[in-house]
Amino acid sequence: MAERQSDLAIYLIAVFILGIITGSFLNVCIYRIPAKKSIIFPPSSCPKCKKIIKWYDNIPLLSYMILGGKCRHCHKTIAITYPIVEILTGIIFIIFFLKFGLEKIYFYYIIVSSYMIILALIDINRKIVPDGIVVLLLLTGFLFGIYGLRQDVTIFDGVIGALTGGLIIYFLNFFSNGKIGEGDIKLMTALGFLCGTKDIIYIIFLAFIIGAVVSLIMLALKKYGRKDEIAFVPFIAIAFMAKGLLF
Ligand SMILES: [Zn+2]
Repeated sequence: MAERQSDLAIYLIAVFILGIITGSFLNVCIYRIPAKKSIIFPPSSCPKCKKIIKWYDNIPLLSYMILGGKCRHCHKTIAITYPIVEILTGIIFIIFFLKFGLEKIYFYYIIVSSYMIILALIDINRKIVPDGIVVLLLLTGFLFGIYGLRQDVTIFDGVIGALTGGLIIYFLNFFSNGKIGEGDIKLMTALGFLCGTKDIIYIIFLAFIIGAVVSLIMLALKKYGRKDEIAFVPFIAIAFMAKGLLF
């Protein structure tokens, strides 16, 4: 038993490290893709003093802590969202591991969740859903054989799921005077394709409940007015993960 527990601890640490390394890459995508910059080149540099960040200052999570959240050269504060995204991704990788173990479906959830983290943060920062990432999400479905990772969803079910997700959000876009944006229609079509009809209905339902609760809280706290545009993708992302974990 003790041996099994130490095995589990090693797995958890490995999965967490994989998560924060992935999160570090997601950060690059979150900031560069909307700015239409390459995610490979050039290497990361400080936005203020432009000095290239050396590899030892670019270790996920660790470097942020060692440097006290500041650039080594000009001491400008590094945005707290960087370590938050890294920790969040690490935690998500661990939670799905605890739920599924190293089964194929685990990889399905961490791949799609990674996309959802990028899309959620870009929506929060810029209120957009980049077409390129949505297309890539679809391609990933084909290339990585998502249907091989999730054998309970067939391609046929994926197509029906895409139509269901897309059409529901299309009507909501129409009747909400565009408060639910066009980007959300594209995203739900792609997500419906990857998770099938049953899941996408659950996800839309959950996303609206979570969205409604959060909006009411924010209105009560006067964080924003009734007319402000709301980033909806974070709710879709949370709903996607909740569906995978809870139902
Ligand atoms: Zn600097």
